[in-house]
Amino acid sequence: MRSFQLHIPSSVAEAADLLSTHGTEARPVGGGTDLVAGIMRDQIVGRGMPYPSHLVDIVNLTELSGISVQGDHVAIGAGTTLVDVGESAVLQRSWPLLAEAAGDVASPEIRAVGTVGGNLHQRPRCWFFRNKDFDCAKKGGDICFAVKGDNRYNAILDGHLCFIVHPSDLATVLLALDAQARVVSRSGERVVPFDEYFIGPDKDLLRESVLRPDELLAEVRVPPPAPNTYQAWAKINEKGAATWDFAIVSVAAAITAVDGVWRGGRIVLGGVAPVPYRAIAVEEALSGRNVRAALPAAVAEVRRLARPMRHNAYKVDLAEHLLERVVLAALDSEPTARPWPDPAGPP
Ligand SMILES: Cc1cc2nc3c(=O)[nH]c(=O)nc-3n(C[C@H](O)[C@H](O)[C@H](O)COP(=O)(O)OP(=O)(O)OC[C@H]3O[C@@H](n4cnc5c(N)ncnc54)[C@H](O)[C@@H]3O)c2cc1C
Repeated sequence: MRSFQLHIPSSVAEAADLLSTHGTEARPVGGGTDLVAGIMRDQIVGRGMPYPSHLVDIVNLTELSGISVQGDHVAIGAGTTLVDVGESAVLQRSWPLLAEAAGDVASPEIRAVGTVGGNLHQRPRCWFFRNKDFDCAKKGGDICFAVKGDNRYNAILDGHLCFIVHPSDLATVLLALDAQARVVSRSGERVVPFDEYFIGPDKDLLRESVLRPDELLAEVRVPPPAPNTYQAWAKINEKGAATWDFAIVSVAAAITAVDGVWRGGRIVLGGVAPVPYRAIAVEEALSGRNVRAALPAAVAEVRRLARPMRHNAYKVDLAEHLLERVVLAALDSEPTARPWPDPAGPP
């Protein structure tokens, strides 16, 4: 590992200042489990991926830590650890998708130090990208080695010049829950819906989110579930639940249904595309219909849209089956408890 300078700011404003001053050479660092223990240790650099020589430590910033129910949302600080998200009573009760997915991430050791911000911004999974000997398009090189190489874990949907998959379980569920990101910089702050937050290689090969180098994710905001909303989450990984690993395919569903008829909601797939994949075609095929009756035809939309490569067609089968299983599990669950009895907000 090359040397770097560690900055320990005492406020978010100071952290934003440091990012602004050091530009593309600076990165915020949470638990460091991806940035330091992966990208920097393994020297994953390239023309489009300079070595981060200034790390801005955000874990001690109390402003960025904790979970609180606000007027119209629950706010989760970007520095909150995954273990705190998984064990939060308020999330378990009203946003079980989020608590369950956080509890499924990696190992207890990684969840103890890994943060929400770090999980959402961890760099993609693709063994060509993560191998320093391949100067791939994602690092500023000319080609995507996955196209002709061993692409068993790569994208089956929406790949474009680059076939990474988005690795974050939290990203998948936050999109299903229609969450927003509060982002800060020296020049102010903005709120971006997760619908627009993640960007794929079709928009920018070198970035995975709309964050500029001088910006920092401060907080995630999740709205309360609508009445009669049913949530379910599951992921398939190669080694099985006992040994922690990334999703080959995951599905998060938040379905609002009355008498079994789809009234709204979202279904999102993880591990299949460069960004969390909202299955809009599936949602449209279920909209206004009895969900159980319409499900087989809706699930088939995934196969219609998928563009598997030589070694990863099995992921289409997995995605179809997991999607069906998760939607049925959601319908069999209790509707989500709302975080406060009065829809206008907490008493
Ligand atoms: C063996 C193993 C298994 C894993 N399995 C899973 C899994 O099943 N599911 C899953 O989702 N993940 C999995 N992970 C990834 C793991 O969850 C991440 O490494 C961890 O969440 C990153 O958090 P961190 O705080 O350590 O991030 P860091 O390493 O500190 O940062 C990661 C990236 O996020 C950026 N960043 C950090 N905080 C912010 C912020 N506030 N604003 C903007 N950018 C920020 C950093 O600059 C860096 O680029 C696994 C990792 C390992 C090693």
